[in-house]
Amino acid sequence: MPTTITCYGAAGKIGGNKILLEDGGARIFFDFGIDFDRSGMFFNELLRPRPGRGLLDPLALGLIPPLEGLYRGDLELPGLWERMRGNPAYRNLTRSGGGPAVDAVLISHPHLDHNGDVSYLDCAIPIVSTRAGAAIARAMQVTGPASFEREMAYASMRAEKEGKLGSVRSEAYQLRPFLFLEGPLGTDAREFWHCAGSSTRKGLHAAPAEAFPGKVGGRAVRHWAVDHSIPGAVGYAVQTSAGWVGYSGDIRFHGRRGGQTRAYAEGLAALHPRALLCEGTHLESAAGRIGEEEILERVVPILAHYAGKLAIADFGPRNVERLQVFLDAARRTNRTLLLQPKDAYLLNALHMFEPECYPAPDAGSNVGLFDDPKSAPRPWERETREAWRAPIVCAGDVSEKPGGFILADSLWDLNDLADLEGIAGGVYLFSNSRAYDDEQAADLDRLRNWVRWLGLDLIGDPDDPASPNLHASGHACGDELAEFVRTVKPEILIPIHTEHPEWWEEQLIGSGIEIKKPEIGRVITI
Ligand SMILES: [Zn+2]
Repeated sequence: MPTTITCYGAAGKIGGNKILLEDGGARIFFDFGIDFDRSGMFFNELLRPRPGRGLLDPLALGLIPPLEGLYRGDLELPGLWERMRGNPAYRNLTRSGGGPAVDAVLISHPHLDHNGDVSYLDCAIPIVSTRAGAAIARAMQVTGPASFEREMAYASMRAEKEGKLGSVRSEAYQLRPFLFLEGPLGTDAREFWHCAGSSTRKGLHAAPAEAFPGKVGGRAVRHWAVDHSIPGAVGYAVQTSAGWVGYSGDIRFHGRRGGQTRAYAEGLAALHPRALLCEGTHLESAAGRIGEEEILERVVPILAHYAGKLAIADFGPRNVERLQVFLDAARRTNRTLLLQPKDAYLLNALHMFEPECYPAPDAGSNVGLFDDPKSAPRPWERETREAWRAPIVCAGDVSEKPGGFILADSLWDLNDLADLEGIAGGVYLFSNSRAYDDEQAADLDRLRNWVRWLGLDLIGDPDDPASPNLHASGHACGDELAEFVRTVKPEILIPIHTEHPEWWEEQLIGSGIEIKKPEIGRVITI
C-alpha cells in the first residue's frame, strides 16, 4: 500500500490544519484544528453550530471532513452518516477489528486552528502533545465558554432525547487520553489533570495520561521544540515505508527560542526526509519586523515616559512569551503586571506542568491578580484566587496608585476599565497583529473608542504609521522559510498553511525539491 498524505485543511489557506498520514495500516493526523476561514462563512460569535444537533452542522457545512468512525458517537443523531455518504470526500475509517479509527493525533501547538476541532473526535483517540500544550488546552477549556466546540481536553457526553442531543447531568466528563512528549507528568500536574476540581461540577472519567512511547501505529515519531508565539510548540517527523515525513506546525526564528527552530531544521535534514509539510503564513520579507527583545526595548522607555500614570498592555491570549516581555518591562520600571484571572489560571497550570520554565508567581515577582470587578466568579476563578500567592489588586488600588501598574487587558476585558478613576493621561499599549478581516477591523475601532473615552494615549496602533510597532509575528518570513526548506532538503515539499503555495515554485528552482500542492481532501501519494 502506498504512503499517502491527505490535507483536510490548511490547503491554500492559513489554519484548519487536519492532515492525515497513512502508511500500511497506520493512520496518523497532524493536528486537528479549526478552519476559521470556512467557519466564518457560516457563523459568527452569536450564530453557532447547534449543540442539540451534534456533528450535523459542522459536517454538513464542511467544517470537519466526512470521515465515518473518526468522531464522538455521542454527537451522532440517527441517520447522520446516511446523509453524509453522498459527499465525494466521504470515507469510512471504522476499523473492522475495533479500536479508534486513527492511531493518534500529533498536536503541534495549542492554537485553536491546530487543536480546536479535537473537540469532535472520538474520545478513544490518543492525543500526542507537549505538557505545556496540554496545560493550555485544559486551561482554555476550563476558563472559556462552556461549549461542545471547545472540548479539547475532556468531553461532556451527550445523549439523545426526543430527537435532540443534550448533556447527561449525572455523567462525569470523559478525559481524553493524552500522551506527553516530554515524559510522564509530575505529581502536581497529574493531580491537576485527573481532578475535575471545582472547575467542573461533575467528576472526570479517567483516561491514560502517560509518556509518549515514541511510536504511533508502529511508526517511529520524533519531535523537536520550535519557536512560535505560544509555549509548547513542536515540529514532528514520522518514519513511513516511503521515508521520513516532516511536519513543521507553525515556526519562527526571531523569538526568544529561535535557536530551537534552527535545531529542528538540522534534525530533519539528518533524516533525509521523503516529504516535508511546511507552513507559509508570512511569505513577505522581514522588513519592519521586530522580535520580542525589541518590544521590550521599545516598551521600557514608553513606560518611563508615562511614569506615575497607568499603563495597559493588550496582547494575545495565551501569548505567554509576550506576557514575559511585559513582566520584564514591569520589573525594569518598578511596576506590577496585573493579570486577568484567566491568565493567572493559565500560569498556574503551566507552573504545575513545567515548574522549571514557569515559576509560581509570588509576592516578590512583580505580578498581581486583577480583582476583576465584573464577575460573579465562576468556580475556577474562586479556585485561582485561593491558590494565588502574589498580591490581589482591586480597581480602587489601581485608581489610587495608577503609576504602580501595567494592567494586562484585551478587547474582551475593556468594560472593567470603567471602574478605574483618575487614569486619564495614561497609555494603552497595543501589542497584537493588525486586523485581518472586517470583523477584526470593527473590533479595533471599538477598542479605539474605549481608549479615547478613557483619555489614554494609544501606542502600537497597526493602522497608524506614526505609532511604533509593538508586535512580533509568530511566523517566519519568506526568506527564512525558504532557507529552512533548503536546509531540510526533502524530496517533496507540500506547502500548507499558506494562501500562496505557488510562491514556493520560484524559491526552490534548482533545489531538486519537488512541490506537490495540496487540495482539500485530495490524496497525495509520496
Ligand atoms: Zn499557531
